[in-house]
Amino acid sequence: MSMGNTKEKLARLRLHSSGNTLENLSQLEESQWLTHQQVQILQQKHLTNLINHAYENVPYYQDNIPIKSIFDAKGLVDLRKFSTIPILTKKIIRKHFDQLKSNHLQTLNWYENTSGGSTGEPVVFIQDSSVREWEQSVKILFDKWSGRLIGDKQVRLWGSERDLLVGKESMRSQVGKWMRNEVWLNTFSMSDEIMLSYVEKINTFQPLQILAYVESIFDLAQFIIKNKLQVFSPKSIMVSAGTLFPYMREVIEAAFKAPVFNRYGSREVGDIACECERHKGLHISSPTHFVEILREDGSSAEPGEVGEIVITSLMNYGMPLIRYRIEDMGCWAEDFCSCGSGWPLLKEVTGKVTDTFLTKDHKPVNAVYFEFLFYYQDWIRKFQIIQEDYELIKINIVLTDMKQENPFEIYHNELEKIIKEIKIVMGEKCVVQFDFVLKINASPSGKYRFLISNIKRNE
Ligand SMILES: [Zn+2]
Repeated sequence: MSMGNTKEKLARLRLHSSGNTLENLSQLEESQWLTHQQVQILQQKHLTNLINHAYENVPYYQDNIPIKSIFDAKGLVDLRKFSTIPILTKKIIRKHFDQLKSNHLQTLNWYENTSGGSTGEPVVFIQDSSVREWEQSVKILFDKWSGRLIGDKQVRLWGSERDLLVGKESMRSQVGKWMRNEVWLNTFSMSDEIMLSYVEKINTFQPLQILAYVESIFDLAQFIIKNKLQVFSPKSIMVSAGTLFPYMREVIEAAFKAPVFNRYGSREVGDIACECERHKGLHISSPTHFVEILREDGSSAEPGEVGEIVITSLMNYGMPLIRYRIEDMGCWAEDFCSCGSGWPLLKEVTGKVTDTFLTKDHKPVNAVYFEFLFYYQDWIRKFQIIQEDYELIKINIVLTDMKQENPFEIYHNELEKIIKEIKIVMGEKCVVQFDFVLKINASPSGKYRFLISNIKRNE
């Protein structure tokens, strides 16, 4: 216990010495209890400052912000006209990288970062130390919602190829982890042997919280249940970097006997939103992020209606990302959360744009619908659903019994039922093809994609 306190003090000391993280944190904590209206005014102020800065200092925005029409009579950004600023795509960032840099960049402590993600080409963008401090503050606050205070023990089930430099880790980063009371378990390749060793590590370290890739902790949870293993129960499990489907939450909570908190974020803009202890949706960190959810025609989606998420990072002044197309789909909650927070509530993030299927009349289909068709079938071990065209879906299946020789015959009724259910959503003309395979490979980032849509989208 005394060790825990020492580490908390050390961790706080380290944060004090590294800029404004703790000051930001208290601002965030205050702002979450403002009324919805006050939160909106706060966002409007932050947007106004950012727009003014971008127009004056960033060449790209000098050409792309309709500066004469965007403010209201009080000189604040008119939120109804905000959508007249064009969407910022990854393609535009690549093409206009230099024009997107602020003229005052040399006065900042800036660095380059790269988008993660399991799909597409990564994109390079610029951040500075103040952005990093805000990101840290948001993380700390979200951790707090899940019951983890600064310095409390955490196991991270995390890691992509780029984090796999196990032997090359610097002394500084190792000491940092020790001070922050973190144990990192890499998820890039998780064999049964490795998973067993991870369970043992969790049992020995007894973390207050486990922070994990959705799919990795889901795999580990299934492994624990299948092998009836004893595992230490943390106070909470924070999941990120993937879509959390309801059945996954069920399995993870059953294996660890701890509540799951869903967190949404990305490398480009940091953590955006997280569940509070009521689990009614994900509260958006309003002082740092302005979120829009759009229909295909660019108009705003209604609560409950799935659309494309567009994000404005309110703290990045070195390379402002205004109306950034993050390539995720999601929807607004229909109700307010009962916790009393004034921060707007996302009902769910339903998946990547490239994981979202489109019907012939361009209606996005929530992936959860397809997931549950497969998940509760005990003859299926793994699956992957690929939309090749509006009315062509291919499904790869790894059987539980891999020696089964005539799967088309044996599972005829089951397959027919899946086809029927898919046609209800995708249209009667939709063709569904099955392929029985021995293995489904993870993408280079180490994430396994259940759903792939190869439909070309509007840029
Ligand atoms: Zn809440």
